[in-house]
Amino acid sequence: MPATDLEQIVSLCKRRGFVYQSAEIYGGFRSTYDYGPLGSLLLRNVKEAWVRSMVQQRDDVVLIDAAILSPPQVWQASGHLANFTDPLVDCTECKQRFRLDKLDDPDVCPNCNSKGAFTEAREFNLMFKTQAGPVEGTGADAYLRPETAQGMFTNFGQVLQTSRKKPPFGIAQVGKSFRNEITPQNWIFRTREFEQMELEFFVPPAESPQWYEYWCNERLNWYIEHGIPPEMLRLRAHDDDELSHYSSGTSDVEFAFPWGFDELEGIAQRSDYDLKQHAEHSGERLDYFDPQTNERYVPYVIEPAAGATRTMAAFLLAAYDEDVVNDETRTVLRLHPRLAPYKVAVLPLSKKDTLTPLAHEIRLLLAERYMVDYDETQNIGKRYRRQDEIGTPLAVTVDFDSLDDRAVTIRDRDTTEQVRVPIDELLATVGDRLGF
Ligand code: ATP
Repeated sequence: MPATDLEQIVSLCKRRGFVYQSAEIYGGFRSTYDYGPLGSLLLRNVKEAWVRSMVQQRDDVVLIDAAILSPPQVWQASGHLANFTDPLVDCTECKQRFRLDKLDDPDVCPNCNSKGAFTEAREFNLMFKTQAGPVEGTGADAYLRPETAQGMFTNFGQVLQTSRKKPPFGIAQVGKSFRNEITPQNWIFRTREFEQMELEFFVPPAESPQWYEYWCNERLNWYIEHGIPPEMLRLRAHDDDELSHYSSGTSDVEFAFPWGFDELEGIAQRSDYDLKQHAEHSGERLDYFDPQTNERYVPYVIEPAAGATRTMAAFLLAAYDEDVVNDETRTVLRLHPRLAPYKVAVLPLSKKDTLTPLAHEIRLLLAERYMVDYDETQNIGKRYRRQDEIGTPLAVTVDFDSLDDRAVTIRDRDTTEQVRVPIDELLATVGDRLGF
């Protein structure tokens, strides 16, 4: 049974060192989170799994890493300065602010229940503005990017020239984005600083509908392949009134969060809107000349845009499980091995000096290839429980017999089954079990 209550995951993550409230020693900074020893590994693994599927295993996508700070011209051209807004209302009774389009009842304050106490909605721009350089003034204005996507459009020409790709091809990016959300909520689901994993896939205009279908399926399947049960996912096509003016179709991959189905990723047909905007504002040519047909055209774009931090929350919720082993209830995170923070735990049966050298030899052997945890505190049962709770797929126990027979015991997180394996075959066996 996956977690039904967000609090189950939030408290596990705090207790075990996945996610902490940021600046907690100063009372905490609202809506920002720090990723601890386990959370930073999990988040990194989510991003690496995405890059592996979207870049490494394909020959038609390249990766970039663009700057977070950017000048106003970029956001002028993209439309964000004018349109990247949410409708904000104030409750005149309790003085709280809300995003109008996210209220259950647009007439009732969810904080103090006052009816009809909201001000008129006004559009609030979500971009964080700052200044670059020591001199204040309009020339120094800069913005923290609210999405990674514009980096792919502004670099389109250079990537096309240097990568030897031609449409259909994609530019991918993973990194931080910032939005001054009116109502950040639900832990790491909606925060003001977060991470995105975005692909801009450039295609000949006529092929746009078929690539849109293709990416909707690919992206839905990615979550399933990485361990989310299909029944916890759905693909929801946007209604016409939700679509941006340049989009001829958008679908969201949604996950069954404890509060209902909600967005993990949006897949949008963006037409040639972005490249044309940047071409017009920059005066640079952002198009493709096809030498085969002698035609010059502005490619259409399909954009699968996912959140890494939000997706991490979904993977944790889906992986959470409780079962009974030896009459004892245990909590286990059934994370996909690629996502698990540690792949293997090395657990010497005793802290005695006689076992330590061999245990460290095994740790080093495995650490060449995998992220390994080493733990010699407490009794072995407690150590297994801890590894189950942080999602480590395999535990390797080194005992006194290991000194004589050069063999160790591998324990499986999901089945708790144990098998004895010669140390010489350990790396190969672990590889078979994990699948990599
Ligand atoms: P929403 O409607 O929830 O505000 P959006 O549709 O504006 O999101 P996009 O601009 O499509 O979101 O961003 C792509 C992805 O980036 C989202 O599907 C989500 O996973 C992630 N994302 C967007 N905003 C946030 C946020 N404030 N915190 C965490 N992740 C976010």
